[in-house]
Amino acid sequence: MKTIDGKLLAANLRAEIAAGVSRLKDETGKVPGLAVILVGENPASVSYVTAKEKACREAGMLSREIRLAAETTEAELVGLVKSLNDDPAIHGILVQLPLPKHISEKSVIDAISPEKDVDGFTPVNAGRMMIGERCFLPCTPHGIIKLIEFSGMDLCGSHAVVIGRSNIVGKPVAALLARRETNATVTLCHTGTRDLAHFTRDADVVIVATGRPGTLTGDMLKPGAVVIDVGVNRVPDASRSKGFRLVGDADFESCAAVAGAITPVPGGVGPMTITMLLWNTLEAARRAAV
Ligand code: NAP
Repeated sequence: MKTIDGKLLAANLRAEIAAGVSRLKDETGKVPGLAVILVGENPASVSYVTAKEKACREAGMLSREIRLAAETTEAELVGLVKSLNDDPAIHGILVQLPLPKHISEKSVIDAISPEKDVDGFTPVNAGRMMIGERCFLPCTPHGIIKLIEFSGMDLCGSHAVVIGRSNIVGKPVAALLARRETNATVTLCHTGTRDLAHFTRDADVVIVATGRPGTLTGDMLKPGAVVIDVGVNRVPDASRSKGFRLVGDADFESCAAVAGAITPVPGGVGPMTITMLLWNTLEAARRAAV
């Protein structure tokens, strides 16, 4: 069994991105700029945006950090997004989700210009992806495809089972896997799936994104299958200084005993999500430069 090292792949790609940033600066004088907006102080969100800002600066990009109080109104947030749409120093806009309950995520995401939607969350980008037009691919699904390729697996003609149908992971990753250039046959499972193991036991690759630890166990896998564990779940652990540890949606021990390759949590999909965000921000700056 091989562990698919997301940190290593992310480091390789980030070095390429940093080189691209410095080339763009030399050729056009432009520095890719990412605005990261955080509303409130959700601890998981704080740690995600801190990691994104750090990665951005390390790649030589401009990171504009905007931290707003939890009481910020929807109108204020939409107004801020619109002003960033018009700001030539900013090429990518990221609004960290979830937002406080009184703000409609849809209204805020819809306000982001598709040309600066480096998360790939706007309906325009989602639609462009579905019909194969130039777009920004959503970061986690794009990172998942890169991880599977990095594992050495040939997706063409394979059976891929995706567990979870969210708009940010399950649905887009299923769409990317089924594209002609990837050419997998895709089964998309969810809570309405009658016998999940029936599908996963036939899979060459399983992508599990449910937010439920233990969704996938070793007895549900075909020997040698590749497992991509997207889940990030905090489980109480008194032996850790923070009082919790992170686990994925797959039971690592039992899956690792049967799988050909598996991503760890942490250190698998997570570092790739941030890397693909940098990738999209560089691409947005390149497009703005022509
Ligand atoms: P979500 O919006 O809560 O969607 C979960 C999906 O899983 C739903 O479609 C749900 O089905 C399905 N599901 C739940 N339990 C299931 C079960 N027992 N069997 C089959 N399907 C089941 O979650 P998400 O936003 O996609 O995130 C999923 C996980 O990935 C979370 O742990 C999240 O933290 C993590 N995540 C990680 C990254 C990263 O960068 N590493 C990025 C994004 C998300 P129904 O539709 O039928 O309810």
